[in-house]
Amino acid sequence: MSIHHAIGDKSVAAFDRARKLMPGGVNSPARAFGAVGGSPLFIDHAKGPYLFDIDGRQFVDYIGSWGPMILGHQHPAVIEAVTKAVHRGTSYGAPTEAESKLAEQVIEAVPSVEKVRLVNSGTEATMSAIRVARGATGRNKIIKFSGNYHGHVDSLLVAAGSAAATLGVPDSPGVTPGAGGDTIVLAYNDVNQLAAAFDQHAGEIAAVILEPVVGNMGCVPPSQEFLNALRTVTTKDGAILIFDEVMTGFRLAFGGAQELFGVTPDMTTLGKIVGGGMPLGAYGGRADIMDNVLPAGKVFQAGTLSGNPVAVAAGSATLQLLKDQPPYEYLEAMGERLATGIDQAASDAGIDHVVQRVGSMMTLFFNPDLVTNWDQADRCNRDAYAEYFWAMIGEGIYLPCSQFEALFFGNAHTEALIDQTVEAARKVLPDLERA
Ligand code: PMP
Repeated sequence: MSIHHAIGDKSVAAFDRARKLMPGGVNSPARAFGAVGGSPLFIDHAKGPYLFDIDGRQFVDYIGSWGPMILGHQHPAVIEAVTKAVHRGTSYGAPTEAESKLAEQVIEAVPSVEKVRLVNSGTEATMSAIRVARGATGRNKIIKFSGNYHGHVDSLLVAAGSAAATLGVPDSPGVTPGAGGDTIVLAYNDVNQLAAAFDQHAGEIAAVILEPVVGNMGCVPPSQEFLNALRTVTTKDGAILIFDEVMTGFRLAFGGAQELFGVTPDMTTLGKIVGGGMPLGAYGGRADIMDNVLPAGKVFQAGTLSGNPVAVAAGSATLQLLKDQPPYEYLEAMGERLATGIDQAASDAGIDHVVQRVGSMMTLFFNPDLVTNWDQADRCNRDAYAEYFWAMIGEGIYLPCSQFEALFFGNAHTEALIDQTVEAARKVLPDLERA
């Protein structure tokens, strides 16, 4: 399946138009399909586990809007909640009871969260959490891990799922060396590096931020030892441990990765599922830390549309459903089925690979070895992934358009769809020329 045949004429024309109007034709870079070459499919609508493009074709959706759509598209309860909210007004800039309801739901679900502030995106959540951690500790330095992405926050746009682990060198023009200068970048899952950094910078580190299961270099699980060491060393030093659960929150368990691994951070950032497919993020944590935020404390953070009633309605309905009818056992069973099937298909095709998965996040790495950090991820055969991606598009399966993005599925993905996906992989993998 060549790229040319995989993209419909209407999508090609739509991209030509969009490129004249928006940088690269998109409003977020991954959507342009740069990592796999070619041009993107333009979406008309989505329903349940399916995306429909403007050329009238149907795809099984394995990105779910990059995470939020764990219940599938257009879940009736979410649509009803959003519709009701819209008919009461779309924004007030004044408090509502619905915000307290969503705050209660988040606090009840996520072990580390005693108080929470609602924002509009995951980026805002991580940016604000870092500011609060610095304000609360009076320290400047932060530690992040190579290959972990935390949104386009200046100080975190360093070794963010792409460039090699270099101390404080920005990944993007426009990020000043000063903005990244207090950022220390370490290798994920490396307990010794972590201990050495705390020895060297004792009493100077405001926060350590990480994806507790990484989705942004493909799916890379943490070792339990690594999470335990993070908890121990930050507690001892008085640094704040921040789990960025924008992807993992309400996905790997109702309480996120912190529930699954039994390690409770001091602060947590949320996005994606917490907004039920609407623009909403959140950051929260220990009450004594969160009380540093204005107007309770002095750390400034605000938002015209924060706690937006329509977004809050979508998030609240989504969390209610996840609580009342937890999908997590089902997602684990389907994840196991998908991972086993794809792994077998790739083995039978004689391809060097490893399948990594936690719950409903998964990656087929075109890499012979386990991937536990960015240096290992960087050795993947990106060309083989691109070929696989387009071949699967040809079979009606919409995977992430990069080797370094985990796939997501939700409880609208039936066992039959999982099996259909494995069959598609069985069909295309033996024919990959660059694998
Ligand atoms: N943190 C993580 C772990 C993410 O995966 C993302 C987005 N993919 C973000 C933060 C940023 O969220 P947003 O795109 O909503 O700003």
